[in-house]
Amino acid sequence: MTFIRNLTRCALVCSAMAAAGPALAQADASQLSDEQMAEARQFVVDNALYITMHEAGHMLISELGLPVLGKEEDAVDNLASVIMLESDTDEFDQAIMDAAGGWFLMQNGQDITDSDLMDEHSLNDQRAYTIVCMATGAAPDYFAEFADEIEFPAERRDRCADEYQQAADSWEAVLADAELGEGQTPTRFDISYDPPSPENEAWAGLLREAQVLETVANLVSTYVKLDDGIRMVATNCGEENAFWSPEDRQLTFCYEFAGLYAAEIVNYFAEGGQG
Ligand SMILES: [Zn+2]
Repeated sequence: MTFIRNLTRCALVCSAMAAAGPALAQADASQLSDEQMAEARQFVVDNALYITMHEAGHMLISELGLPVLGKEEDAVDNLASVIMLESDTDEFDQAIMDAAGGWFLMQNGQDITDSDLMDEHSLNDQRAYTIVCMATGAAPDYFAEFADEIEFPAERRDRCADEYQQAADSWEAVLADAELGEGQTPTRFDISYDPPSPENEAWAGLLREAQVLETVANLVSTYVKLDDGIRMVATNCGEENAFWSPEDRQLTFCYEFAGLYAAEIVNYFAEGGQG
């Protein structure tokens, strides 16, 4: 494999989001109704699913030595959308909408900095709209109400049908050689949830109960066969992040990242946002 990097850090947190760290301390979750709390928990799980799937895209590229034309970050965002939309379940359809919602809550808005523009990731606002485009491209009727709510224009939706198909076909083509064969044993992943530090306990429990890592591992292994032994770890990192490390063959999801989403959604509801 020609492109081994020490660490494919997926610095999903950009400067616009950095200030959100202490937000949870200020956010008062006790103001939320039971229904809002349930939605907030689902929102955190769904965004963790999407981000873990995004990291699994980096994993596939490095494990299989796949070609990447264009920005890898955009490519693996699209893979996450395609693989979740193609599984066509209510759970993943909701997760897709929550993932778009996650980027909308962290949108750059008017505060786009040079460092945002220099970043390897597209702007959070663009990442949100690309997810919406993939969703409406895959299932225009099903996601019509969702697209209406965010005023996603009809003429843009029409073009998204082709863009979705192109993304789905492209990923299918590059993964074809690694497709799980009939009778073949699915890939064995080594999954663990490290003991959380006290401040991460709430999110750690949520991710473990929802089996976020297991869900992504199952989804990936349904489609492709990889060498066994890849580790997927949820842990305390001291930063809000997630990353794939090719050398260690390890996908890491930081508990703090789930905490950031929890802070964002609790604040959103506390400020009168609608679910
Ligand atoms: Zn990434």
